[in-house]
Amino acid sequence: MGESNKKLYRARDSADGRYGPKQMASSEASALAFNGAPCLADAAPALRQSLLAWYGEQGRDLPWRQSRDPYAIWISEIMLQQTQVKTVLPYYRRWLETFPTVGELAQAEQQRVLKAWEGLGYYARARNLHRTAQLIVERHGGVFPTGFEDAISLPGIGRTTAGGILSSAYDQPVAILDGNVKRVLARLVALPKPPAKAMNELWQLSEQVLDPQQPRDFNQAIMDLGATLCTRHRPSCGLCPWQHHCAAYHQNLQSQIPMTEAKAPIPHKQIGVAVIYDNAGRILIDRRKQEGLLGGLWEFPGGKIEPNETVEDCVRREIKEELGIDIQVNDRLITVNHAYSHFKVTLNVFNCTHLSGEPQTIECDEVKWVTLDEIDSYPFPKANGQIIDAIKEQAN
Ligand code: SF4
Repeated sequence: MGESNKKLYRARDSADGRYGPKQMASSEASALAFNGAPCLADAAPALRQSLLAWYGEQGRDLPWRQSRDPYAIWISEIMLQQTQVKTVLPYYRRWLETFPTVGELAQAEQQRVLKAWEGLGYYARARNLHRTAQLIVERHGGVFPTGFEDAISLPGIGRTTAGGILSSAYDQPVAILDGNVKRVLARLVALPKPPAKAMNELWQLSEQVLDPQQPRDFNQAIMDLGATLCTRHRPSCGLCPWQHHCAAYHQNLQSQIPMTEAKAPIPHKQIGVAVIYDNAGRILIDRRKQEGLLGGLWEFPGGKIEPNETVEDCVRREIKEELGIDIQVNDRLITVNHAYSHFKVTLNVFNCTHLSGEPQTIECDEVKWVTLDEIDSYPFPKANGQIIDAIKEQAN
């Protein structure tokens, strides 16, 4: 348990009652039950009213809120998973121009879909969108399903995404629990444990507080509250419509809630990467297997440097193992550092010359020799963008 957590537990158990449940129960501000699981049922009408009034004045004007098209709303919900609104906005607009309907997305080549997603990260989302579009056409006549069980059975759609889509598109009273909502609810009840250890309680709270008369607006409003006022750092409690009911605010625990668990150190991988030229000056690229990280995207071949191995030896070995060809490793082109959610990589990129052998798809789905002009039409992971820039600079 971290120091701040210890402090929190001490505070809640303190004999003087300053931060404890006793003070909350006697406070007019609190309508929360602390006998067993936290409960918002009694406070829900007041919470709904104040939140919706605030949302009416302060809610964000976002393009997907002007739509009732379930397809557009579904796209926005998937893009907003793990990605901020300001990053999503240009992608959302471009996507709907490129694939205006479920049917057009279903029929598109996967490479076009991945290209449209390029730079947004978490590429499984794009592959799932594509597959789900095909299933919506096959199973539901091209219209996003209205039933919760049907929605949640589609690839890439979990409980909170299903709630977001069904409430936004069809105004159904289905609760959500994304990162913003977890934080707001955890603070509202001064949740004494990390959200990951209280998922059932948090889902119950989200269901209790949801306005069954206006679920679309309510879910959008609570997300806005988390995104704009009840932010991770320094929440703007002075402007918050829920301040009156907020246990974290009354106990001055906003900076300690949501509680966090100690994180394991993030692994850092050293990777050797080859930019391989043939006699005609073309470059060899390969398409990653569908399964796993960055599946279906193109990349420059390479792999992890083994202990006691030089980068050059790693590049030669990896290319032989992955593609079955021999190369000459020349000078270093660039070094690229990149962070994924669970690990960091350093890409040590070398210019290489093809010596012998026909490239084979031993550990990839496809290989191609491409010219520098052609390379931009292939979807690459973000970290490879810097490699492409370095190749172009070198060519000039
Ligand atoms: S009062 Fe502060 S901590 Fe509580 S919900 Fe509002 S912004 Fe969040």
